Parts: sequence; C-alpha cells; structure tokens
Amino acid sequence: MNARRRWAVLVIVALAGSAGLTYAQESVDTLLEKKFDGILDPGNLRSWMKELSSHPHHVGSRHDRENVEMISRLFRSWGFDTRVEEFSVLFPTPRIRLLEMTAPDTFRAGLAEPPLPEDSTSGLTAEELPPYNCYSADGDVTGDLVYVNYGVPKDYEELDRRGIDVKGKIVIARYGGSWRGIKPKVAAEHGAIGCIIYSDPRDDGYFNGDVYPKGAYRNRFGAQRGSVLDMPIYAGDPLTPGVGATADAHRLKREEVKVITTIPVLPVSYSDALPLLGALAGPVAPVAWRGALPITYHCGPGPARVHLHVTSNWDMATIRDVIGVLPGRTRPDEWIVRGNHQDAWVCGAADPLSGLVAMMEEARAVGLLARGGWRPARTIVYCAWDGEEPGLLGSTEWVETHQAELERKAAVYINSDGNGRGFFSAGGSHTLEKFVNGVARDVDDPETHVSVLARLKALSLLEGSAEDRKELRERADLRIGALGSGSDYSPFLQHIGVAALNIGYGGENGGGSYHSAYDSFDHYTRFGDPGFVYGITQARTTGRMVLRLADAPVLPFDFGDFTETIGRYVGEVIKLADDMRAATEERNREIGDRAFTLAADPTQVWVDPPRRDPVPHLDFSPLQNALDRLQRNTARFTDAAGALRRSGRTPSEPACRALDALYMSFERSLTTATGLPGRPWYVHAIYAPGKYTGYGVKTLPGVREAIETRKWKEAGEQIVVAAHVLEKAAGIIDSAAEIIARP
Ligand SMILES: [Zn+2]
Repeated sequence: MNARRRWAVLVIVALAGSAGLTYAQESVDTLLEKKFDGILDPGNLRSWMKELSSHPHHVGSRHDRENVEMISRLFRSWGFDTRVEEFSVLFPTPRIRLLEMTAPDTFRAGLAEPPLPEDSTSGLTAEELPPYNCYSADGDVTGDLVYVNYGVPKDYEELDRRGIDVKGKIVIARYGGSWRGIKPKVAAEHGAIGCIIYSDPRDDGYFNGDVYPKGAYRNRFGAQRGSVLDMPIYAGDPLTPGVGATADAHRLKREEVKVITTIPVLPVSYSDALPLLGALAGPVAPVAWRGALPITYHCGPGPARVHLHVTSNWDMATIRDVIGVLPGRTRPDEWIVRGNHQDAWVCGAADPLSGLVAMMEEARAVGLLARGGWRPARTIVYCAWDGEEPGLLGSTEWVETHQAELERKAAVYINSDGNGRGFFSAGGSHTLEKFVNGVARDVDDPETHVSVLARLKALSLLEGSAEDRKELRERADLRIGALGSGSDYSPFLQHIGVAALNIGYGGENGGGSYHSAYDSFDHYTRFGDPGFVYGITQARTTGRMVLRLADAPVLPFDFGDFTETIGRYVGEVIKLADDMRAATEERNREIGDRAFTLAADPTQVWVDPPRRDPVPHLDFSPLQNALDRLQRNTARFTDAAGALRRSGRTPSEPACRALDALYMSFERSLTTATGLPGRPWYVHAIYAPGKYTGYGVKTLPGVREAIETRKWKEAGEQIVVAAHVLEKAAGIIDSAAEIIARP
C-alpha cells in the first residue's frame, strides 16, 4: 500500500468516528501525525537560526529584507503559494540619546552594550539600533529625579502619601509590573517631563542567576529596547489606525497621533541606573519597591538632577509580511492561519527566531505531507510577520487590509513567538480550551518523556493554592489563560474577532537576553534550547493543532469550558464591586478615626489618602440573566453532542458545514460595533489588554475597567453591552445544538 492509499483509508475511519462533534481528538489521524513527527529535524532549526540571526534584523534593515527573501524562498520550495505583502509605516530610529546627572555628582550614562568575546554577533554595533524606546516623543529636559517603582498608577498613590509630586520632574521606573508603554503614559499623566526605564537586577539580572556570558541572565550593561506605543488604544502603524498601511492609505499627521508618548523616554542598564538611584535622597522607598542594587532605595525628589535628551529620525519604513498558502481540498474558504514574527530588536535569536524556526519546520513538514498526496480539507496559511516589535505592525496592517475576507474565512489563528526549554503554555479563546488540552495530552516533553500536559499539571499543583489543587485533580481540562496583548494574535482576536491561540514553551531557558544585543545565536544555543528539542516539541504541538483544525469534519470548538469560564468572569466583576465597596467604607472610616495620622512617624511627611465616594450597588442582572441563558443553551448543546456520539450517527455534510459556519461566527459574536470606551479599535467584549497593564488581560474589559476606575454610569452601560454579547453567543450555541439534535 502506498502512502497515499493508506491515508485514504484513514480519512474514512476518521469520518466514521466523527460523531462526537466537540472533540478534535475523535478525528485525529494518528498515522498522519506520526509521519509529520518523523519529518521534523532539529538540525534545520539550528541552521536557519544561525543564518537568520547572523546580523541585526530590525524593521528597515538590510538583513530584515534578506530574511524575508530567505523565508519566502523556503515557503515556495515547500509548495506554498507564497507572496510578500508590503506596507509603509512610521518607524522612528534613534538620533540623539543623552542621559547625564548634573547634581549632586556628575555622571554620563554609557547607553551601550559592549561586545563580548564569547558572543560572536555582539560586535556588530555599527549595524544595530542602540537601546531606545521606539515611539518616544522627542525632548530635551532637565529636572530632579523621582523613583516611581514600576510606574503604575498605584505607585503614584504611594508617592502621594509621602507628599511627593512628580510634576516638572524626571521619573525613573524599573521594568516589570506592566507593559513598558504604560510607564511614560502614567508618568506624563502625573505631570512628569521625562521617563527613564531601567532593568533592576532583582527582576532581570544577577539576583536570578549568573549573568551573561557566564550564565543566561542580564549583565550590568544589558538594556531592554522596546516600543512605548500606547498599544492599549490601538495596535499597528500609528499613522493608519483601523486601515491597512498601503501606499494610498489615508494617513494621520504625526502631530495628530495619540499613541506616541508625550514625554521623552529612554531605557538603560542597571550600571547606568545605579549612580542615579544611589544619589537620590528623600524617604526610603517602601519595602516592595526595593530592588537588588547595593544601595538603600530612596524615592527622591533629588538631589539627583538629570538631563535627558532624546530625539528620533521620524522616517517611514517598508515592512514585508511573508504569506504562504496551501489551499484546502473540500473547504478552501475556511482558513487555519498560523503566524510568528521574524523582525527583531537586534539579532533576536530567542525573540522571535526560536519560535519562527519551529514554525518554519512545521510548515516544511506540512508541505512535504502535501507533496506525498495528503491535502488538508481546509486552507492553511503560514505567515512570517514583519514589524512586530515596534507595535504588531505587520500582523495588524495585514489584518486591517484583508479584514472583510478574514471575517468571512479565518476560522482560527495560532500564534507563537519566542520559545525555549521548559513548560507548555497556552492562552486564547476558551472555545478551544478542550482542543488545546487534547493536543497537549498527545505531545511528549523531550526531557522527562511524560506528556507536556502532565508536566504543566505537576508544576501547577506545586505552585497552586488548595483551591487550585482541588480543581487540577477534579476538572477534566487544564485552564488556558485569556489573552491580553504583546504579540501578533491581538489584531485577529481583539480587532476582528477571530478565535486565536498563543502557544509556546519556556520557563527553564533563563531570561536576560530579552530585547538586548546579547539575544544571539551564542546565547540561545548555550541557554535557550541547546539541542532545539523544545523547538521540535513546539513544532509537534502547533503542527498537530494545524493538522487537526485543517482536517476535522467539524471545527473542534466546544462551549462547556467557555461558558464555565465566562461564569467565573461574571462572578469576578460582581465580587470586584463588592470588595471595592467594603474597602472604600473601611478606608473612609480609618480616615475618620485619624488612624493614618496617628500611626505615622511624626518626623516623616505623611499625607492621608483622600476620602472616596461610596461604591453604589450596580445592577448586574442583565449580565446574570444572559449568563443563565448561556448556561442553559450550553447544557443543551452538550447533551445533544453526547447523544449524537452515543448514537454512532455521523452528521450529514451539509450539517457539518452549517456547524462550521456557526462556529466561525462565534468569536465575532463576542465583539461589538462600537468597541471599548475610548478605544474603538478593541472590539472584543470578553478579552482586551488592560488600559493600565498593557500586556496583562482584562476580561469583560468594559465592565471591569469602568468599575476599577469608579465610572459607575459607564459600568452600568457596559454591563448591558456585555449582556447583549452573551445573548448573541447563546443564540449561536442554541442553533448549533439544534443542528446536532436534528434526527
Ligand atoms: Zn517577539
């Protein structure tokens, strides 16, 4: 029997076993997957990474373009219908970067990552973009320095208690605690005129392990480049919100753009931060604010006085996405889209090439299977994105350009980014939670040889609370996280409502190279994943997802985990309002009792927190009623699917197609026409990046953020909006149940 014939037999077996509509597993073609695994070769990952990371390849660089050419040539050679799509975007690069202390001592920051003999690409300094924050405003400012911890809103409340105002001053914040773009935004909202962001060794350096090149962790010169675009407002090219940045697109003027910072920002290493922080006086920083530098951390302001001068070349750059298509056999208009970015801040071996080379090997294997006679039922689209680092530019502009077609045809988007040794991690649409668990159960960890799901479960047991442990032992599926932002899934999920997943391995690969000149082939092959075995494991995982999604008789969406998760989110926002009410009452009482004043050290400045208006009782009933309906319809769906499975009956082809159409519309039903308050680009009513967390997700974001910011009227309105969305979703689940139950 030749291979082609064997697969034909298998397809029939798979269809006959397809009655259980809710599980992809029941249509798993294990022979095809074995064959797929057999093709994967870690040597390819290694040689592609070496080539792709041989020079800095940021947006607009020569090597970025060479990499696009190499990837498109390979996609073509593997049989994909391949094109390169170009967009024109605003991409500032550094022109002037100056940071000096003028009092009480003088010090000039080096702002450089010196070459290391142990790292062969670290000497390419002439080709690389030095440490800077992309989309920082231009500015030349001098002022007293204030340490603001992570620079998130609650840190400024702590400063208020100590009578410290950042107005007219320059703040220094450590990386962590939020997405970096939040720090200059919040600093500017409080009147600061400049912002320095540094990597504290407590979170990112010698506190965690030996530093590079002895170990993996950030050394004293390592600085974290990165975008400070206000991405929670919109992602993509700042000049073309909501539309593709094609040649003829309408463009905003730079002065009209709301997502560029209003004050200058610069990232520095801990060797550059140490003299500045060491020269601060004023109150000793709260315990939780102290890092791992050998100083007593003070808040300031002053006597450290700094001069910060940052300007950029505000140029346009061309970005190039590589798109490779393998047309589906029977459902060509249902697309499984798979992507990873290829641009980097410097050489980017870990971020993003470790994920990209795994995806390339996956694509090569899929292409080879197709040459051997197998053909996916649905269309598979591989995407190597450009311009992710400045602000998800490549994926966002592609999604905005092809929005109408993607809304009709994109069934699922699977994203990955950096990858390394360690644990399986998955986030995304909860309609795919059961599907993800099924795949993770079938992939073995390369070092411990148990399933990657079992290994993750073991870690979760040891790290979890008593309640978590109970759930881990009793619940059928491991939970997947909800997605905020930080990689290319965002435009698919949150801007056009396509079900999305973000998949990767990590946790044992050491940190420390992120967005630095030391994120190199040498670093990655010593610490990241030396044998590329987790790269292969990633390819096995996402490859299985692509094969199963492309060939399942019905898309493997399930609503049980989704509805249960929504129930938790509804419970959380109700509890949030109750907890805030109790905390507000208690706080106001403590102020009335003069507790703060009497407990404070009389020799120190202390300002009581302000009294706050009591938290009203919100009417959550629209949301609770919608949830009831969602739960009823989901139960009906689950019963109907179970009965169908037990009957051994196979749904008709038209029924399968009708179900696919419903499932493909499901994620979109969770979006609204108007989007979130103040940020219409984000239309998903269940998942969004937080306005003040950036990467961190806010679930039921309209409701949750209105409560958190004490906008009670808006909270009431958003409860109705979220309820309406859940009603729409419940309607689709009901229609699906009806098709399944049809005799
Ligand atoms: Zn990345």
